[in-house]
Amino acid sequence: MSADHEMYARWDASYVLGALTPGDRRAYEAHLEECERCRVSVAEFAPMPGLLARTRPEVDGWDDARAAGPPANLVDLVTERRLRRDRLLRKRAILGVSAVAAAVALAVAVPMALLGPSAPEPARTVAMTAVGDSTMAVTLELSPVAWGTRIGVTCDYPAGDTWSGENGPWAYSLVVTDEAGVTSQVSTWTAVPGRTIHLDAATSVSLDEIALIQVRSVGGEPILASSLTG
Ligand SMILES: [Zn+2]
Repeated sequence: MSADHEMYARWDASYVLGALTPGDRRAYEAHLEECERCRVSVAEFAPMPGLLARTRPEVDGWDDARAAGPPANLVDLVTERRLRRDRLLRKRAILGVSAVAAAVALAVAVPMALLGPSAPEPARTVAMTAVGDSTMAVTLELSPVAWGTRIGVTCDYPAGDTWSGENGPWAYSLVVTDEAGVTSQVSTWTAVPGRTIHLDAATSVSLDEIALIQVRSVGGEPILASSLTG
């Protein structure tokens, strides 16, 4: 990962909304040239035609995003997502201040417990639940990272069951829905009967903002699901 990515990872919505200064905008576009993750992130925010007109049409994923069409409430979704990010950043800034306060508190013997937790969010292991009668077993390993969430996927296809049709092995997709209801496909793969397979996926949505993860069939039917809220 480019060292610059840490700095630019949260500029995506500002860029799409045209909120960056001209200098920041040029710097971010230079970063986009070399950063796949930020291009994907920008494409996620990009479906709105009015915003597309102000952005660079050659960014990868643009056409797919445009073809999918914007949800009617996209401005609200983007704004809400931005607000939640800003709140999260403020929370982190306050925790940073707490660390300084902790040093002072130790010096005057005030109990540390009063200052609250400041540890980073740990990785989560999630066993997905079948929506229908599929015997496919999927476990997710969700790790919070600076740019979003890394998703390790382990899929088991018991031997003896049917895992293919006339078009070959059944194909699946992993779909992440954030707390604002924005859905993105983060991986696709095909079944391997009698085997356990591992694959790595990633999303720009932070772990604490993921509401739902689904495995879907090619036709979009949910096969397995995990709700992460609450
Ligand atoms: Zn980047």
